[in-house]
Amino acid sequence: MKHKITLIPGDGIGPEVAIAARRCIDATGVKIDWEEALAGQDALDKYGELLPQKTLDSIKKNKACLKGPISTPIGTGFRSVNVAIRHALDLYACLRPAKSYVGVKSYYKDIDLVVVRENSEDLYAGIEFEEGKPETKDLIAQIEKSSKKNIRPDSGISIKPISKFATQRIVKFAFEYALKAGRKKVTVVTKANIMKFTDGLFLNTAREVAKTYEGKIAFEEALVDNMAMQLVQKPKNYDVLVLPNLYGDILSDLCAGLVGGLGIAPGANIGDDMAVFEAVHGSAPKYKGQNKVNPVAMILSGVLMLQYIKEEDAAKRLENAVKKVIAEGKSVTYDFKADRNDPSAVGTSGMADAIISLL
Ligand code: NAD
Repeated sequence: MKHKITLIPGDGIGPEVAIAARRCIDATGVKIDWEEALAGQDALDKYGELLPQKTLDSIKKNKACLKGPISTPIGTGFRSVNVAIRHALDLYACLRPAKSYVGVKSYYKDIDLVVVRENSEDLYAGIEFEEGKPETKDLIAQIEKSSKKNIRPDSGISIKPISKFATQRIVKFAFEYALKAGRKKVTVVTKANIMKFTDGLFLNTAREVAKTYEGKIAFEEALVDNMAMQLVQKPKNYDVLVLPNLYGDILSDLCAGLVGGLGIAPGANIGDDMAVFEAVHGSAPKYKGQNKVNPVAMILSGVLMLQYIKEEDAAKRLENAVKKVIAEGKSVTYDFKADRNDPSAVGTSGMADAIISLL
C-alpha cells in the first residue's frame, strides 16, 4: 500500500533533519508519496500567511504529517505556528516518549517513560490580554468585582481554561495508549491543591476516567512540583504520565533530559483521525545549514509516524537501526561523542546514511 503524507520542512535546522528523517523512512521500503507544504516564515514569504489553509488541508486530507521545527519570535511578534497547527486540527494529545538508548551520554540507564500532554487548553490556549490595553483594564475591573481580589493595574493576563471534555479525552487517550503499548501505570500530574477549579477539575475528571480501567492499568496521582523532584530522583517509578498542557511541556523536556537531551526526544501530536509528528526540539537557528545537528529526534518521530500508519515492522527496523548506530558510536553527530570537538563526528546527513546502510 502507498501512503500519502504531508511533509513540512520547517526552518532553522528543520529542513536538514526533516530530509534526513524522510530518507531513513523511505529506506525502510514503505511506499510514501510525500506532499511538501509550508508553514512559518517560509509560508509568510511565499503566500503572505504563516499557516496557509493549503497546508492544513493537506494534513486533513493525508491524515499524517512529518514536520520540522518552526521558529517563533520570543516575547513579541507572531504566536507559535506549531501551537496554531495543533489548535487548528484539534491535535489534542501530545505524546512524548523518553527512552534510554545505549551509547547516549546520560545520568540514567533503562528509562522508558511516556509523557501524554493535553495539547489544546490551559495557559497555552492563547487567550492573553496585554498590559495597559483597554480590554485588559475592563477584564481586571470585572475580575476584581467578582473575586474581591486585587490585580495590579499594570498586569498582563493569560487565561487558563481546563474543561471536563478535554480532560476526559486526554486521560482516556493516556489509558488507551497504556493498554495498547502494554504499559502498567498512568500517573496524573497536577497542582490541584492550589488551582482547585482548573487542575482540581483535571484531577477529579481523571479519577472518574481511571475507574473504567480499574484492574487493567494502575492509576496514581502526583503534584507537579513533587513530580519534578521524583522524576530526577526515581524516574523508574513512573510509566505513563498524563498532564495539562503547560506542565506536560515542561516535564517532557525534563524527561528528555533524563535520557540524554533534546537530540533524541521524538514527539507526536494526535487527534481523533490525524496526527503531526515532530521532534521535541526547536529550530536551533545557530546551527542552520551546517549539516551538523543530530537527526535522531526527527527520525524517531518518523518511527512514531510509521507506527501510526500501521507500518509496525518498518517502525521496528528503523528504531533498531538507529539504536545500533548510536550504540556503535562511530557514525554519529558531535553531540553523541565524549568530546564535542571529536573530528570523527559525522554530520546530519552522514548519520542518516549510517542508519540507512543498516536498513
Ligand atoms: P531549540 O530546541 O531549538 O535549541 C536549544 C538547544 O538545543 C540548541 O541550541 C542546541 O544546542 C540544542 N539542540 C536542539 N536540537 C538539536 C539537535 N537536533 N541536535 C543537536 N542539538 C540540538 O530551542 P530554542 O533555542 O528554545 O528555540 C529555537 C526556536 O525553535 C525558537 O524560535 C522556538 O520558538 C522554536 N521551537 C519550535 C518548536 C517546534 O517547532 N515544535 C519547539 C521548540 C522550539
